[in-house]
Amino acid sequence: MSVEISLETLVEGIKSGDKRLIAKAITLVESKKLEHREKAEQLLKAIMPLTGKSIRVGITGVPGAGKSTFIESFGQLAIKNGKKVAVLAIDPSSAINKGSILGDKTRMEDLAKDPNAFIRPSPSSGFLGGVANATFETMLICEAAGYDYILIETVGVGQSEVLVADISDVFLFLKIIGGGDELQGIKRGIMEMVDLIFINKVSEDNLQQAKNTKLELTRALQFMPPKEKDWKVPVLLGSALNHQGLENVYEKIDDFISLKKESGRFEEVRQLQGEKRFQYWVQAYILEQTKKNQQLDDAFNEHKKNASELLANPSSEAREFVNKLLKS
Ligand code: GDP
Repeated sequence: MSVEISLETLVEGIKSGDKRLIAKAITLVESKKLEHREKAEQLLKAIMPLTGKSIRVGITGVPGAGKSTFIESFGQLAIKNGKKVAVLAIDPSSAINKGSILGDKTRMEDLAKDPNAFIRPSPSSGFLGGVANATFETMLICEAAGYDYILIETVGVGQSEVLVADISDVFLFLKIIGGGDELQGIKRGIMEMVDLIFINKVSEDNLQQAKNTKLELTRALQFMPPKEKDWKVPVLLGSALNHQGLENVYEKIDDFISLKKESGRFEEVRQLQGEKRFQYWVQAYILEQTKKNQQLDDAFNEHKKNASELLANPSSEAREFVNKLLKS
C-alpha cells in the first residue's frame, strides 16, 4: 500500500518521474479513508509549486465515437512534438458498473508502452471528495511529474461532462457522422460547453456526409451563447484511427490556450475551478465530521429525509442542520 511508503520517497519519485511511485501517490490521494487524507494533503502541498503548467484537455463523445483511439493517436502526436502525455478518466458510474473506462488498456496499446505517456483509469465514485476531485489531484501529481498534456476522457453520459469541464482548460467533443437527433435534447448542453469539435471516422467514402454534419453543427453553434470571446468553435474533420486531421486539433488547442492566456481567461477560469474544488471539499469534510458524531448523523439523516420527502422546505432543513452542527 502506498501509505507505507514515506512522503519524501513519494515526492522524490514524482519529481523524478518514477511511474511506479507516481501510481502509488495517486492511490494515496484516491484513498477513501480519512486517515490517508492528511498524508495525501501533505503530498499535494509539497508538489503544489510544481503544478499548473500543463494543458488540461477534456475529451467527450458517445461510447464508440473513438475517444480511446483519438487519445492513442493524439498522444503519440504530442510525444512526437517533444511533449509528455498523461491520460486520466472521469467516470462517475465506475463504482456501479465496475468496468471503468480506460480499464481496457488494450485500446491504447502503443501509448501505454511509451515512456513519455502515463495512463490511469478512472477512480471509483466512492472517493471522499468525489470523482472530479480525485481526478483533479491525480492531474496535479502528473503535472508535478512533468507531463505537459493531461488528456481527461469522460464517458459522455450524464454529469461526467460537467465534471470534466470543471477541471480542464479546453473541452473537445468527438462526434461521429450524422446523428442529427443528437443535437436536440441533452447533447445541447454539451454543445454549450465545447471549445473544439472533431468529427471522427471520416474517410473518402463518407466525406460528403461528414461535411453535411459539419454544416449542421456549425449552424447549431450559431445559436449557442459564445463561451469564450473571440473564439469560434472550430469543427474539424479527420480520422483518429488513420492519424488524419490530428495536427489541426493540436494547433487549434494551442491557439485556444494562447487566446485564453492573452485575455486573462485562462487564469480566471482556473481560479474559478479552484473555488469549486474548495466548495466540494468543504461539503465532503462537513459530511465526514457529521458521520463521526452519532447525534449529528441522526439529525442529518432526519433533515435529509424531511427534505427528500418534501415534508418541509429543503432550505430550512439544511439551515436547521447547520445550526445544530455549529452548536456541536
Ligand atoms: P470510445 O468508446 O469513444 O473510446 O471509442 P473507441 O476508441 O473504442 O472506438 C470505437 C471503435 O471505432 C473502434 O472499433 C475503433 O477502432 C473505431 N474507430 C475509432 N476511430 C476510427 C476512425 O477514425 N475510423 C474508423 N473507421 N474507425 C475508427
